[in-house]
Amino acid sequence: MPKSTNVNNRLSQLLWCVPALALLAGCDPDAGKGNRTISTDTSRTTPTDPRPLNNDRMTPSKSTDTPRSAVAQQKRILGLSVNGEPIEALIYGDGPDCVLILATIHGDEDAGTPLVWELSKQLIDRRDLWAGRRVVLMPLTNPDGMAAQTRGNVNGVDLNRNYPARNFQPSAKHGPAPLSEPESMAIDRALREYRPNRIVSIHQPLRYGSECVDYDGPAEDLAIAMSRHAPIPVKRIGSRPGSLGSYAGVTLGIPIITLELPKDAKGLDAATLWDDYGQMLLAAISFPESPVVNAGSR
Ligand SMILES: [Zn+2]
Repeated sequence: MPKSTNVNNRLSQLLWCVPALALLAGCDPDAGKGNRTISTDTSRTTPTDPRPLNNDRMTPSKSTDTPRSAVAQQKRILGLSVNGEPIEALIYGDGPDCVLILATIHGDEDAGTPLVWELSKQLIDRRDLWAGRRVVLMPLTNPDGMAAQTRGNVNGVDLNRNYPARNFQPSAKHGPAPLSEPESMAIDRALREYRPNRIVSIHQPLRYGSECVDYDGPAEDLAIAMSRHAPIPVKRIGSRPGSLGSYAGVTLGIPIITLELPKDAKGLDAATLWDDYGQMLLAAISFPESPVVNAGSR
């Protein structure tokens, strides 16, 4: 893809973020500002405490004619990339059943980012999907890699090999130690603080025709449920050293899906991605129930 196209995609995503975050914030005009100044200090939050940091809490609208103004939607900055870009989490609901959906841990596999932004937009009006549960979205976990269109972060580390799984292998490409990279730490923070019951990590394969719903840990039923909603087959690739799948699925026993979208999903606009793959994500959220309505908008 030409670099100018990537820049345009990035710009369009950023432009989308502004109204979306304003809406999440109850249209507080200052809500999207000063992300870099938000503390990412973990010392005030214990690993088992899912409560957001006080200064991460979104400011509800004071308007009385918008009933949704008091919803429990929050935006948090869970860490900063090597280049200082915020790694955000958007949170819907506060129930005990928790789903974590993240995208673009591999920076050049970035179709998941507009897809998860679109999911966030859809969830605003789908309170039924977060009743009794918490949905945590991390639309862009490797912002520097996406900007540079590289698989790894700016240190050249493959973040999906940088987790403290039993099969971690230190190297230049995997990192000198588990969680050596700030982007990996941001995802780990989400695991520790929200303790999800299931996880979906969105990727894209290197080759055409290699799309699949891969899984680690006790996630076969979840993989099958998601696969029903798109022509993407369930296929176990196997645990990779230090991968998030190895760590979350095998070491921690959390059902985790590695969703390999088709290679040519890259560059599709958010509406098309949503029509094609949104229902898979809704199925993951509502699992083991089925989503009530179709995700597609056309
Ligand atoms: Zn990948």
